[in-house]
Amino acid sequence: MKDKRFYTFLHRQIPVFLALSLIPGLGYLLLGWLHGVFMPAFAWYLLIVAASIWGVRIYRNFDFDTMSEQRRDRWYRQCSGFMYTFFMLWVLIFLLYIGQKAHKLHYIGIFTEIGAAVVASSLLASDRRLYRPILLMLMVPLIVYFLLIGEWYGYVLTAFACTLTWVLLYAANSTHQLLMQANHQATHDELTGLHNRQYFIEHLQKRMNTLNEDRGFSYLLLIDLDHFKTVNDSLGHDVGDHLLKAVVMRLQQQVPASCVVARLGGDEFIISGSSFAERDDCERAALALSEQLILTLKQSYVIEQHHIHISASIGVSIINGQQASANRFIKEADIAMYEVKAKGRDGIYLFDDELAYRVERHLEIERLLHFALANQEITLLYQPQLDRDGRIVGAETLVRWNSPALGAVPPDQFIPIAEQTGLIVELGAHILESGFKTLRAWRDDGINIEQFSINISMRQLTHHHFVALVEALVQRHLDADLSRMLVFEITESIIAEDINRVILVMRRLKQSGIRFSMDDFGTGYSSLSNLHRLPLDEIKIDRAFIKALSHQDGGQAMVITILKMASILKLRVVAEGVETEQQLDFLRQHDCPVFQGYLFARPLPHEQFVAYYRGKALR
Ligand code: C2E
Ligand code: CA
Ligand code: CA
Repeated sequence: MKDKRFYTFLHRQIPVFLALSLIPGLGYLLLGWLHGVFMPAFAWYLLIVAASIWGVRIYRNFDFDTMSEQRRDRWYRQCSGFMYTFFMLWVLIFLLYIGQKAHKLHYIGIFTEIGAAVVASSLLASDRRLYRPILLMLMVPLIVYFLLIGEWYGYVLTAFACTLTWVLLYAANSTHQLLMQANHQATHDELTGLHNRQYFIEHLQKRMNTLNEDRGFSYLLLIDLDHFKTVNDSLGHDVGDHLLKAVVMRLQQQVPASCVVARLGGDEFIISGSSFAERDDCERAALALSEQLILTLKQSYVIEQHHIHISASIGVSIINGQQASANRFIKEADIAMYEVKAKGRDGIYLFDDELAYRVERHLEIERLLHFALANQEITLLYQPQLDRDGRIVGAETLVRWNSPALGAVPPDQFIPIAEQTGLIVELGAHILESGFKTLRAWRDDGINIEQFSINISMRQLTHHHFVALVEALVQRHLDADLSRMLVFEITESIIAEDINRVILVMRRLKQSGIRFSMDDFGTGYSSLSNLHRLPLDEIKIDRAFIKALSHQDGGQAMVITILKMASILKLRVVAEGVETEQQLDFLRQHDCPVFQGYLFARPLPHEQFVAYYRGKALR
């Protein structure tokens, strides 16, 4: 098996051979001149120089990372040709000097032949196809020469030369085996026997170089087993290992011979496909193979009496040879695979322009969001909440990001990214502080509301400094009356966290007078019993339910149920996303106390909110 290290090793020998010929060659030239065989020695040296020039060209032509498979094979043939020529020239000088007994040059000849054989057995040990014939080519003439002496010492020398040949072959074989073993270990995964990541990247780079020359396409499938960790955790690592081996066996049975399968690590496998002239054909083949693999992997496994069911998520990327690096295509397949995971696992996703755009935008948002706070691009809007009499009783704080580069980025887009990167902690602190300042300014302006709501994301609430931060900000900007107006809106995703810790944090904050509201109520997956454990004061009916009021299929029943439940649990209710008079009428009929939505006002900047409030108060 030939990989990058094999070729690089061979490539690195070329200069050694050049040095070994050109410099000692001068000595042979001198000897030839002194002992009357100058012309043949000179002709020989000219041949050495010509071979060296050829060697330099072969050396220069090598660039593994950009060579296609064909070019690499061609290079290898040339390099072997060069090695044969080189040793043949040394056999030639042996044949020339062995005849010059009168000047004792034959000793030099014998020494040359043995020296060349030692060099061949050590420097060419990586390649059996080179060192075996070359060693024989060097040693056989010597053996014949000794044999032809015809005296007893000649036979002793023959025996010696035969033994030496055997020793050199033996040494080269052992080194060869050792190299092959080390190479196998470096390029294979021990557990499954598949190729490893490093080998695969090299292989992919070669494939891409070939595709670049042929203008063809190929595909990558990145396969990740779903919930493999659960198998490992519940049934033990032995069973996990067996399962991986069984998975590999199924993969190898399904995958065409022209594909390469490798293990990237853990429960992640990658397959590179065959080549196609058309992109469409390539996509079709990739998806067909993925579907087949998903079905095969899903069939149940029996391992140590356990019946195991497992599914897989497959990300597909189409590769061509142009520009991009091997790593980039693996990354694309990886992104596509995560898309499957995000959509509920057990499926296939093809990395396409749309996903590329989304990823690009995601990265842009992530990058620019870091500067948004410092550049004062983050502002707050306030959406009024009204009671049944049309009085403004509260406001919800909604964040806005006006990026000079990206335009207005909606919070639905940047808040989740801020959560992933942890920036939400800093961003959230800024929102709290500006919100508190507004609340204080409003009171100084004579605005009299009952509650002031701020959205708090899960990562923010569970951050270890959160309670201390809120207490410090309350101390700095608010007083007891104002802090009792605060409502923190949380979502049901909070329950996925350590619920006991969440309850602890909520209790601590309630001591400062802060109330809690369950936002987007009814859209999450939490159980009522879990919800009931949280010290809540309010729920917000999600606008999807308000929107569904006009539908016949139980839309109204949902809202009525939530309102009833809230009244039994003594929770305040805010209906959000109220857009029409009909929705408002319905909600009023069923005793909903507070409303928020475009019917009354969109989220407003600070001063506009004040103006809106005054306008309402006048009426
Ligand atoms: P949310 O907390 O459910 O906020 C209500 C969203 O509904 C707001 O969108 C608001 O502009 C919109 N809305 C209000 N009335 C109506 C209506 O009548 N019709 C329709 N169609 N929409 C209405 P916005 O401001 O784009 O915020 C989206 C989400 O981003 C919020 O959903 C919240 O989850 C998050 N978010 C916004 N500001 C913050 C913040 O300061 N911190 C955190 N952690 N999240 C925030
Ligand atoms: Ca909210
Ligand atoms: Ca909401």
